[in-house]
Amino acid sequence: MSQEDATLEARLAEQEAFEPPESFVEQANVTDPGIYDEFEENWPECWERAADLLSWDESYDTVLDDGNEPFYEWFTGGELNASYNCLDRHVEDGAADREAIKWEGELGETRSYTYGELLEEVETFAATLRGLGVEEDDVVTLYLPMIPELPIAMLACARLGAPHSVVFAGFSADALATRMNSADSEFLVTCDGYYRRGDALDHLSKTNEGLDGVDHEVSDVVVVDRLGDDLDHSLADNQRDYDELVAEYDGESVEPVSRDAEDMLFLMYTSGTTGQPKGVKHTTGGYLAYTAWTSHAVLDLEPEDTYWCSADIGWITGHSYIVYGPLALGTTSVMYEGTPDYPDKDRLWEIVEREGVDVFYTAPTAIRAFMKWGSDYPEEHDLSSLRLLGTVGEPINPRAWKWYYKHIGDEECPIVDTWWQTETGGMMITTLPGVNTMKPGSAGPPLPGVDARVVNAQGEEVDAGQAGYVTVNKPWPGMLRTLYNNDERFLSEYWQEYSDKDADEWVYFPEDGAKIDDDGYITILGRVDDVINVSGHRLGTMEIESAVVGVDGIAEAAVVGGDHEVKGEAVYVYAIPEDDYEGNAELEERAREAVLDSIGPIAKPEDVIFTPELPKTRSGKIMRRLLEDIASGNELGNTSTLRNPEVVDDIAAQVETD
Ligand code: ATP
Ligand code: MG
Repeated sequence: MSQEDATLEARLAEQEAFEPPESFVEQANVTDPGIYDEFEENWPECWERAADLLSWDESYDTVLDDGNEPFYEWFTGGELNASYNCLDRHVEDGAADREAIKWEGELGETRSYTYGELLEEVETFAATLRGLGVEEDDVVTLYLPMIPELPIAMLACARLGAPHSVVFAGFSADALATRMNSADSEFLVTCDGYYRRGDALDHLSKTNEGLDGVDHEVSDVVVVDRLGDDLDHSLADNQRDYDELVAEYDGESVEPVSRDAEDMLFLMYTSGTTGQPKGVKHTTGGYLAYTAWTSHAVLDLEPEDTYWCSADIGWITGHSYIVYGPLALGTTSVMYEGTPDYPDKDRLWEIVEREGVDVFYTAPTAIRAFMKWGSDYPEEHDLSSLRLLGTVGEPINPRAWKWYYKHIGDEECPIVDTWWQTETGGMMITTLPGVNTMKPGSAGPPLPGVDARVVNAQGEEVDAGQAGYVTVNKPWPGMLRTLYNNDERFLSEYWQEYSDKDADEWVYFPEDGAKIDDDGYITILGRVDDVINVSGHRLGTMEIESAVVGVDGIAEAAVVGGDHEVKGEAVYVYAIPEDDYEGNAELEERAREAVLDSIGPIAKPEDVIFTPELPKTRSGKIMRRLLEDIASGNELGNTSTLRNPEVVDDIAAQVETD
């Protein structure tokens, strides 16, 4: 550890609460703490604040229609078009020349689109899709990596009222087939390939393999030529080159189709690490209003901002906070194709400096990687344009939070730790950056108008400090409306556990564990199935992980339960040492002590295993199920959805020799 890191550690380690910097508050979109009461007293009409951020073709009659719970409807009677809201209206307001999307390829090439240019591209591609026979309500599958054609295609679909279903490009051929079958999707937009760490990946072969598994006719496949001569391919009869096809429709204008507020905007399949993927249905009015509102209130976005969310558009985070939210507000949204360590580990900070990024949103797993690489990389760059930082996807441990705060934000940017899910459409639990005190490790209070609680197994609110489960006891505009073609699973998956149907009380269950403190701040402990039962005591894996990654020299950790003859389950810790450290007995001892100190002897690790990597899903989440199998000595389950399947065998081999 460098001298400077040591000083930071000493000064920040003890600090548990941070006030939003004055310089931020002075300019923030939301600064009045009264907003919480205002929303509560005026619920559900408070949500008009969100709807007001949009332009409606037809204004709505009812804010919330709860006539058929839990199939809630929002802004009923209203009509609007999402692409009109993200493009045309900004052009009409005189912002045609403002940049909408600034894209950077992994090899360094750049493409940027003003709102005027993006509108033209979207209209042309909408005309193209219509020419291919795409009609309102047809589901169009987009199997594309982080290239500008992805948001262009999404907005073109939205313009026609054809829901899109984006399949993350890193997913397998099988995943593509399952999703196209489930959605009965007859149209596909894909590409020849893309770059990863300088290598040209063949995407078209994978696409073709996937198409072999589709059980209905796919009438048209549009293929973007991303790699040029770097990859040779020939197209099948129903496959058309994007550029050639689009040239036939150049300059055509397509009127945005007025959609009912409740009409489907898109389908998004959750990663589905177990079982059949769930087709989460989001609608035009509620979803767009909710993402615009949270982009305004939480990300603090202004049209003048250059904003960067480093997620992939293939996840909900990219849908809501690269495309729909920021563009609805007329902001400049940065898009980057590649990995953060190519060609070197300062790639992201180079982009922040060059583009003058104001607001940056990323995931804890990325932050822990930055931390592991060391602060020299961000220090080489001027990051003073940054005003606000955000994280999403997993709980962030206080040490990573403080590193982010100090080394990226220079102690001048608030951090919003935003808890939400594919199903919620947008952020649910987080501080408002211009209002609330921040507590590292805790996401914060529920947003105004969001009735999230922490309850016990009986659904009663737990006392401060006690662990329980998150529930959401009132609907919100961004919520999923159902699982596509599967109302039954929608009911059983989310509404079974805590609703009291006889009393007509409907409670949404996100399946996450949490704690709440005296100020109403919620600390997410992880998913319900990430709970370890040691001799009858229920321990949250996240809490133990947080203790372990609080140790100097440990960058990342995964804690799982392994079968134990006496205790039922025992705690196993898998940890990645920081770059300058090695996994030795001394580091192991410190990890054990940290667990004892913060949780108690009941959580005493059975084993601490050091490893250079942890098995991760393609969205960067640790695949605990596999680590459990290793700890329990079980046969290893399916590793095909992993980003780095090879590490599993390495870890297993190490556990055997230990
Ligand atoms: P699947 O539901 O298909 O298994 P998934 O739950 O990983 O996949 P997402 O909807 O992308 O798919 O992730 C939502 C989950 O991520 C939340 O339920 C929660 O467990 C976790 N999460 C998201 N943001 C945060 C956060 N800020 N703090 C803690 N956990 C978070
Ligand atoms: Mg989930």
